[in-house]
Amino acid sequence: MSGAHAAAAPQELARTAPEPDGTPAGVWSTSVRRGEDGALSVAGVDVRAIAAEHGTPAYVVDEADLRARARAFAVAFDAAFAPAEGLAGADVYYAGKAFLSVAVARWVHEEGLRIDTSTGGELAVALRAQVPGAHIGLHGNNKSAGEIAAALTHGVGRLVVDSLPEIEKVAAVAAELGVRAPVMVRVTTGVHAGGHEFIATAHEDQKFGLSLASGAARAAVDAILAHEELELVGLHSHIGSQILDLAGFEVAARAILGLRAEIAADTGVLVGEVDLGGGYGIAYTGTEGAPNAPGAVAAALADVVRRACADLGTAPPRISVEPGRSVVGPSGLTLYTVGTVKPVALDDGGSRTYVSVDGGMSDNIRPALYQADYTAALASRASRAEPVTARVVGKHCESGDIVVRHVALPGDVADGDLLAVPATGAYGRSMASNYNMVPRPPVLAVDDGTVRVLVRRETVDDLLALDLG
Ligand SMILES: *Cc1c(COP(=O)(O)O)cnc(C)c1O
Repeated sequence: MSGAHAAAAPQELARTAPEPDGTPAGVWSTSVRRGEDGALSVAGVDVRAIAAEHGTPAYVVDEADLRARARAFAVAFDAAFAPAEGLAGADVYYAGKAFLSVAVARWVHEEGLRIDTSTGGELAVALRAQVPGAHIGLHGNNKSAGEIAAALTHGVGRLVVDSLPEIEKVAAVAAELGVRAPVMVRVTTGVHAGGHEFIATAHEDQKFGLSLASGAARAAVDAILAHEELELVGLHSHIGSQILDLAGFEVAARAILGLRAEIAADTGVLVGEVDLGGGYGIAYTGTEGAPNAPGAVAAALADVVRRACADLGTAPPRISVEPGRSVVGPSGLTLYTVGTVKPVALDDGGSRTYVSVDGGMSDNIRPALYQADYTAALASRASRAEPVTARVVGKHCESGDIVVRHVALPGDVADGDLLAVPATGAYGRSMASNYNMVPRPPVLAVDDGTVRVLVRRETVDDLLALDLG
């Protein structure tokens, strides 16, 4: 992956960030504008004012944009899976791992989504937001007995079981609490997807789920049906992330609906619900191809469920999906202040300008972890300077501390300028660390001309408070 980058001349790859265009398919949230003086604003608030009042780095969330994306998923899936369409309804679970705070959990729930959690911590945030347990799911390949008990105590609507031993563990906790646990089986169908392509293999060499091909998924279903303390509510499939080609979902959906028909034929139990996971891709740089709108995703999935169930001769199940990135990713941007600017000569005779910002891999690990591409734009002013091939880097003691690998920035970019990196709403703050004892940035919600702190900036005192000397 990184090899491909290294081989290409940086000039070919350095593009200027797309200008804000107000559309949901773009890299910027829909309220981002560039004003007459060249500065960016979010929901009517100038980024210079945000930086002056709250400092940088800062995650800035466009509340109306986030709410609109959540609502669009709820509306699209309701419509596409309506009984009038010959289907049995759908629920959209927001995958909270993408970013969860009490306010965001409340917003997405108000807009009609349920919430998926994968740890006791995420579950606690959803509960603090007063999301009813029945509208929460719990995932995880290694849930503790404490996490399972917390979920059952709060009436969580589904625990997605990930292994045969976990089935026994959930049954034991349910028996102890005197409740019946609603469980789904996470099935690995052999379909993996990410970006533009999907691959399908029979056997899986990864930690999640129970394999369809090996019979493990079927064994899990039989084990659940044999336990009085467990109620089999569904089958689950999640094939990957940042997926732009919907074909992988269709292959996985057919596989899982086939398993459901087989279970019905053998046991007489027609499982009520099928979860098709999340992973819908978004625009990070504007060069990846158009992301699918929620309506297009819902229509494609409804079509394959309708056809597969007709072919199999089974009544359609209720469907659920779990988008994370596509709900919050495009709604957020990160605001940084530029510090050191350093031109570096390259072997091919060109040069690259290293633009250091006041954050880095501690607030966005994705470029270092996945070679993820982002773009960046000068946010505090306009510039007519010739663009230079730039690399935006952080302040950490790590040469892989890259925020944006290749981007064209105005040649006069300088200490004190604000840079905005779009599409950082998902997996930014949620994967942030304190590497180098750097406090994590705040999450600021902007709506209709006002800024509200959702998560405050961490301080060095916060970090020292954990250190007992
Ligand atoms: C990560 C994850 C999601 C959400 O993925 P996105 O790419 O953010 O949409 C949904 N379901 C499961 C099981 C996941 O692990």
